[in-house]
Amino acid sequence: MVVLNQLRKSGGFWLKLDDVNILHDPGPGSLVMMHQLGLRPRDLDAIMLSHRHIDHSNDVNVVTEAMTGGGFTPRGRLFAPSDCFVNDPVVLQYVRPFINITEIKKGMETMIKYVWIRFPIENQHPVETYGVIYNFRSGRLGFIPDTEYFPELAHAYSGIDFLIINVVRMKTDKRIRHLNMEEAALVIEKIKPKVAIMTHFGLQVLNSSPERQAKIISQKTGVDVIAAQDGMTFDFDKRKK
Ligand SMILES: [Zn+2]
Repeated sequence: MVVLNQLRKSGGFWLKLDDVNILHDPGPGSLVMMHQLGLRPRDLDAIMLSHRHIDHSNDVNVVTEAMTGGGFTPRGRLFAPSDCFVNDPVVLQYVRPFINITEIKKGMETMIKYVWIRFPIENQHPVETYGVIYNFRSGRLGFIPDTEYFPELAHAYSGIDFLIINVVRMKTDKRIRHLNMEEAALVIEKIKPKVAIMTHFGLQVLNSSPERQAKIISQKTGVDVIAAQDGMTFDFDKRKK
């Protein structure tokens, strides 16, 4: 509902790790937001799709075109689960030759320039879903996208310095398999990163003040917890280990 009514923007987030630029989960409005924020799709080295749901993948084709000059200069990489490419594919056939495609598998490791990338575990969500850990100059950054809580989740991300985590619900609705605030707090407490950024809020979270929730979890865990806002930037270098 938050995406459909654009109560928050849904273009995903742009990582600049050392000199590597990665766009995560380009949902509806991603291309428009990039231009509004002065970010150039041509600077992207990779697009990362955590899963095929439309709030994460809507703009993947148009951003692929934008980063490859309409396909005339094929370049860059696209990482996505295998179900993004078959039956009702979210990555259209005609854009596939424009970009180097990697199907994500659990445990897979790769590099882009000097940034080391690993997909530590498969999430539990209605479609194939993967988070990621980046090892770069300023530390280790983990991203936990949509998932329901399961005990192995926190362990898979142990040792990271920075965490970005999707928190959709205050109370669990078993049908849509998302983390609620209490479960997110538990994951943050177990991982103990230096900084945790919560994002991807559903209506319940927006109505419960994400900032207040972040403060409560900070006090409970001792971790610096931040509630993301539209257009927010965060400098990893200022918070490095
Ligand atoms: Zn989802």
